[in-house]
Amino acid sequence: MSQTPCIFCKIVAGEIPARKVFEDEDVLVFHDIHPQASMHLLMIPKRHVENLYDADETHSAVLGKMMTIAGKIAHEQGSPDGFRLVVNNGRVGRQEVYHLHLHLLGGTEPLGSGMNRH
Ligand code: 5GP
Ligand code: ZN
Repeated sequence: MSQTPCIFCKIVAGEIPARKVFEDEDVLVFHDIHPQASMHLLMIPKRHVENLYDADETHSAVLGKMMTIAGKIAHEQGSPDGFRLVVNNGRVGRQEVYHLHLHLLGGTEPLGSGMNRH
């Protein structure tokens, strides 16, 4: 693991605070500390994995769950009319925190049209 200790593992462990909006045994969803949209959540698997290069079939269920619950969470958190999921993966993807996460970006107005990072 390239970041020791990992910030997001510390959030999972409750060692640093976060504004959590959803939690179950596998997944944690919390507000990004520097929001780039009126709704900007981060969705993470609780079990540490750096990014999609390290994901394998043991992560399929949790990654599927993350996609599956995104719509309900977006609805509940103020994005009833659309949202964007972004994964910044590795150096070229400008990943900053090396614990796999989905950015869940939304609000009530259309986001920027670019395909760039959030
Ligand atoms: P990345 O560039 O790795 O895809 O995004 C990392 C995200 O994590 C950034 O949007 C950044 O604002 C967010 N972030 C970094 N540290 C913390 C933290 O301690 N708490 C929360 N809630 N978000 C964080
Ligand atoms: Zn971690």
